[in-house]
Amino acid sequence: MRALTISAHGTLDRLELRDDVPVPALARPTDVRVRIEAAALNHLDLFVVGGMPGVHIVPPWVLGADGVGVVEAVGAAVDGVAIGDRVVLNPGVSDRTCDYCLAGEQPLCPRFRLLGEHLPGTLAEFVVVPAANVRAIASDVPAEVAAAFPLATLTAWRMVVSRAHVRPVDHVLIWGIGGGVALAALQIAKRIGATVWVTSGSDEKLARARAMGADHLLNHRRQDVPKVISDATGKRGVDVVIDSVGEATWARSLQALGRAGRLVTCGGTSGPMLQTDVRRLFWNQWTIMGSTMGNDSEFDAVVGELRAGRLAPPVDSVFDLADGRAAFERLVTGAQFGKIVVRVGASR
Ligand SMILES: [Zn+2]
Repeated sequence: MRALTISAHGTLDRLELRDDVPVPALARPTDVRVRIEAAALNHLDLFVVGGMPGVHIVPPWVLGADGVGVVEAVGAAVDGVAIGDRVVLNPGVSDRTCDYCLAGEQPLCPRFRLLGEHLPGTLAEFVVVPAANVRAIASDVPAEVAAAFPLATLTAWRMVVSRAHVRPVDHVLIWGIGGGVALAALQIAKRIGATVWVTSGSDEKLARARAMGADHLLNHRRQDVPKVISDATGKRGVDVVIDSVGEATWARSLQALGRAGRLVTCGGTSGPMLQTDVRRLFWNQWTIMGSTMGNDSEFDAVVGELRAGRLAPPVDSVFDLADGRAAFERLVTGAQFGKIVVRVGASR
C-alpha cells in the first residue's frame, strides 16, 4: 500500500512516500481495518519525525494520528461495527484491561499508545485499530472535516469540559489561536457560553477567530497579554487558561490567571521546562492541570457534536498523499489556521 513513512528520525528530509508498505493485518479479533479517505497532521507528527525519548519506530514507520475512512475488514469478535461503515478514528489506543481503563479513563492507561507514534498511523491507504476506537459518521460529512476532527477536538473537549469545567460565567484565555486544539477549545468554550480571549501573533488569524466567536483579541507580539487582561477585568484576570505552548507562554499564563483560576495544559510546543512561583500558586489558590487526549465517553460526546453538525474544525489546507512533504512543511511554518489535511483515498 501507499504510505507516508520515515525509516529514521531527523528533518523532513526523512519523509518518504512508499508504495510497498504491507497492508496491515488484523492483529486481534477485536480489530478493524479501515481504508483511509483522509488524514490530518498534528504537532505530534513533527515530534515523531524528529524523534522522542522512549519512542522507537520500526521502519518503514507510517506517520499520522487522525483519519477518516471506511471499514473494510472486521475481526471475529467485533460487533457494532460493520464492513462498509464510514468511521472517524480515536487515535488513542488503550489496553482496556487496567484499572484506569475499567474506570473509563483510557488516557491514563499505562499502556496508552497513539497512532503514528507507538502504532502505525493514518497517512496510509489502510490502518488497523481496535473496533472500540472507531465511531460511525454519515457519508455527507466532508472527509477533510472528519479527518481534521478527532485528536484536536477530543483533546480540547477534555481540557475545557472535563478538566477545567468551564462555565458560562468564566473568562477563558486561549493561546495561539490557529492551532487545532486552540481552535477547538474556542468553539467548545463559546458553545458553553464563556467569554473567550484569544491570542495570536497574526492579526489575520485574530480576525478569523473573531468570526468564530472570540470575544477579545490579543496580538501577543504587540500587546502585553496579562496587562491588557488585568486592565480590562479590573485586575480580576481570567478564570481559565488553555495553554499548549509551554515555555514561551507559561509565565504570562500565570500572570493572567485570576484567583481560584484553572490552568490546563496539553503540551509544550515551545519547550517543556516551566517555572512557577509557589507563593502565587497557593495564595491565589490556582489549579494547574495536565490533560491529554480523551476517554471513550468524551469521544462519544465529540462525535455526537460532529454528527449534529457542530464543532466542525476549520481546515487550513488539503494536500494529496503524494505531496505529504509539502503538508509537513506547511505545519512547520506555523502559518496555518486550522488543520492541515492529507487526502489519501478516493472521495465519497
Ligand atoms: Zn488500560
